[in-house]
Amino acid sequence: MPAPIAPGFQQAELEWDENDQPQSRLYGDVYFSRGSGMAETTHVFLQPSQLAERFAALGANERLVIGETGFGTGLNFLCAWALFERSAPTLASLHFISVEKHPLSHADLQRALALWPELQPHAHQLLDQYVAINPGFQQFRFGRVALTLLVGDALDQLTSLDARIDAWFLDGFAPAKNPEMWQPELFNQLARLSAPGATLATFTSAGDVRRALKDAGFTVKRIPGFGHKWESLKGQFIGTAGEQTKPWFARPSHQPKQRRALVIGAGLAGCASAASLAARGWNVTLLERHEAIAREGSGNPQGVLYLKLSAHGTALSQLVTSGFGYTRRLLRNLQQGQDWDACGVLQIAFDAKEASRQAALAEAFPATLLRAVERDEAEQLAGVVLDNGGMFYPDAGWAHPPALCRWLIERPGIELLRHRHPLELRRAGGNWQALAENEILAEAPVVILAGAADVSQFSQSAWLPLKRIRGQITGLPTTKQSAALRTVLCAKGYVAPSRDGLHTLGASFNFAESDPAASAAEHRANLDMLKEISGDLYQRLNADKDHLDDLLGRVAFRCTSPDYLPIIGPLADPERFASDYAVLAKDARQIPQTPCTWLDGLYVNTAHGSRGLITAPLSGELLAAWLDDAPLPVPRAIAEACHPNRFLLRKLIRRTE
Ligand code: SAM
Repeated sequence: MPAPIAPGFQQAELEWDENDQPQSRLYGDVYFSRGSGMAETTHVFLQPSQLAERFAALGANERLVIGETGFGTGLNFLCAWALFERSAPTLASLHFISVEKHPLSHADLQRALALWPELQPHAHQLLDQYVAINPGFQQFRFGRVALTLLVGDALDQLTSLDARIDAWFLDGFAPAKNPEMWQPELFNQLARLSAPGATLATFTSAGDVRRALKDAGFTVKRIPGFGHKWESLKGQFIGTAGEQTKPWFARPSHQPKQRRALVIGAGLAGCASAASLAARGWNVTLLERHEAIAREGSGNPQGVLYLKLSAHGTALSQLVTSGFGYTRRLLRNLQQGQDWDACGVLQIAFDAKEASRQAALAEAFPATLLRAVERDEAEQLAGVVLDNGGMFYPDAGWAHPPALCRWLIERPGIELLRHRHPLELRRAGGNWQALAENEILAEAPVVILAGAADVSQFSQSAWLPLKRIRGQITGLPTTKQSAALRTVLCAKGYVAPSRDGLHTLGASFNFAESDPAASAAEHRANLDMLKEISGDLYQRLNADKDHLDDLLGRVAFRCTSPDYLPIIGPLADPERFASDYAVLAKDARQIPQTPCTWLDGLYVNTAHGSRGLITAPLSGELLAAWLDDAPLPVPRAIAEACHPNRFLLRKLIRRTE
């Protein structure tokens, strides 16, 4: 379902007054009161929403969700976060969802937030993660506090959101200066997304806004404004929200008695699932069949943050931009230079078709994400001689996936059991038991299958259309000359700058082979690919080898799905699906209302192909959101495009073709 990506995307343009207070050049309006922004936030948003009381009343594992129009400098977010920390019990959580059409640059955000000494501990954490702020959903996690920043126009972004908002902050610039945002359609979206009794607070008391809010189902009350403003508004949602979701994509209603889960497979998808659940207070047992984590597809020494984008805003492209941002935020926790590097990725325009694909991307995406570079500049960035220019992704780079896996699971609430290889799942007394030869290895009410293509070993998930693709990498020792390589180079394959005395190049793509041993033929293919990327680098690496068998190599099997999207979400009973929704085979436009028969508590997270570094960390957040009935960290359409039930649905509908 192609969607516009970033029509007219523009960062904020700020002007600073003599007191270093920011004002928007685009709108000619202030971000917060010149008197005291923090006091204004408390007066206009926090107090009328009774946030201190509501935070304090949260029970263990309960969550409050705030929705905001206009993230701006993040002041409201930081104030709400600080108040949450002061008022809420330790096991409660806060999810803040904010939409921003013109995000501030990092430098502007830093300058604006320097105004608030009291907020510095929180501001530092935000600034540390404020990278790769590209269009679409951008997820941040600060322990029990999640921030989902929707980068784009409020109406477009909220339309694609799946969440239940408990408290709204309406903070776009004044309606007179920004009429485009305050349209009736926006208020309908607020109503659609409101939890019963959701509160609302806004600095404006404009008549049009009051009327539109009432029409959409909110009560509104004028209250004294802040500073020189006479009035502001507070309100409450009294309408009936709720929309019809297709039952096969509805949220499973099953709530496990205990927040305990087994995750099977400790690669990136499994470790990310465990981390996201543990951050929400779940206890997770991670079962790994090998002696250590990250021994298969996630075990290569260097993985590349390679963004395979489409200018048409496909589901995969949107997932990649969101996933890239989330991975980049996590990588900052690892040791730069050793476990990852933001050295940039250069995708070389190696033929005319690739050059025109890149030209279309440069039109569709902001220059903060990617930019076209001529050959001269490309060579300067790369540090080696190239035949062509290409597309440069300044925030991308490489990472050592095992280090990311380790970081993800080194946290309270996650227990790793090694040498455990379950082959069967059995439901017993509200639990799933993971068995190997009739021995129960572990049990819990929830199981997440994250073992790449081996997910289909279990009878409950055997129907999933998973494919294995063999990939072989070659490791070439760093030479004095090759150390000049400064950025990842990609064409039909990739070569990364040196890590631990080796450059990783790869990876072959082989559907036919299943041999786990490295082959000379694929080493040859990798070396040929290197030569195509840069004959100069090929020479610097002494890659003209005769004895290919002596080369360092590693083989792993990627797992992919027929539509190349990962498979993330709850599993249904395939036979019941076919009978309950049989009518779709005759008429695909029907939406039967029979609830889907889920395999209660059984979830899957797999098929990340060769871009697990980009999609797997975020997939943990998506999986945990399905499980915890929490706001989805990606647009609903993307979550549906990654849902396991898409295949059961297609199978039924195809019968009509
Ligand atoms: N809440 C912010 C804070 O704590 O700093 C201040 C928000 S500022 C008054 C208004 C923000 O709304 C600006 O950052 C502006 O770019 C954003 N905005 C304006 N029109 C928008 C739209 N149509 N969609 C999304 N954001 C919009």
